[in-house]
Amino acid sequence: MRPLIELIGLPSDSNSSFERGSALAPPAIRAALWSDRGNLACENGMEIGQDFELRDRGDLQLFERAEDDALIRAAVSESIASGAVPLVLGGDHALTHPVVQAVHAAHGPLTILHFDAHPDLYELFDGNPRSHASPFARIMEAGLARRLVQVGIRTLNRHCREQAERFGVEILPMAEFTPDRVPVLPGPLYISIDLDGIDPSEAPGVSHPEPGGLTVREVLAVLRRQTGWIGGADIVEYNPRFDQHERTAIVAAKLLRELAALITRNASRG
Ligand code: MN
Ligand code: MN
Repeated sequence: MRPLIELIGLPSDSNSSFERGSALAPPAIRAALWSDRGNLACENGMEIGQDFELRDRGDLQLFERAEDDALIRAAVSESIASGAVPLVLGGDHALTHPVVQAVHAAHGPLTILHFDAHPDLYELFDGNPRSHASPFARIMEAGLARRLVQVGIRTLNRHCREQAERFGVEILPMAEFTPDRVPVLPGPLYISIDLDGIDPSEAPGVSHPEPGGLTVREVLAVLRRQTGWIGGADIVEYNPRFDQHERTAIVAAKLLRELAALITRNASRG
């Protein structure tokens, strides 16, 4: 049976601390994915629809209030119960917390590989515990992850450094980054890609651009080395309002294809 991967769009940006716009991302990423300007091949030779099935649950209707988290958990749980691996399109990074809650409910404690310019470990940001600057504080304090490895980090302040120490987060600072320094994590693995982890020269369409970031090629090199089976993934923080000629949407669509191919490859490795 071909592995089944299911897209779930979560158009929510009310927990963004600075700019709105990431709620517009899911349809823009889908448009880039299915555009005739490219094909459906992935770099490991797999093709969408040939080597795995890519189903689309569409966009979840959200209301920009705290109760959205329960709707997100329910949609992700339904997806997993149907036999799919959920691949979530944000929205801002706040949604990773309820998504991880649902993946954890199905598979137990996760290892998490997190690409981002920011550690997103704030206890609170602007008084909001659901801020997109805080999802990994919520995930770690609830014990949802056995390990959290963060890649691309280049904005670590004192508070977040203390939070990382408190939670045992493994941060690979951008200053010393090479792909082979990233540990290969056992499953169940969850992969969260905040597009601002990538350098703004390659992915300008984000709310918090931070120079000195990862290349797309480096992200792909880190992904390619991972062999653990993957229980879920997300691509978040694409903000079409700041994109240029759809460049960032095309990056997001490429990463979507590559994540789907990696989920498929690693599933067959048991
Ligand atoms: Mn983030
Ligand atoms: Mn970020």
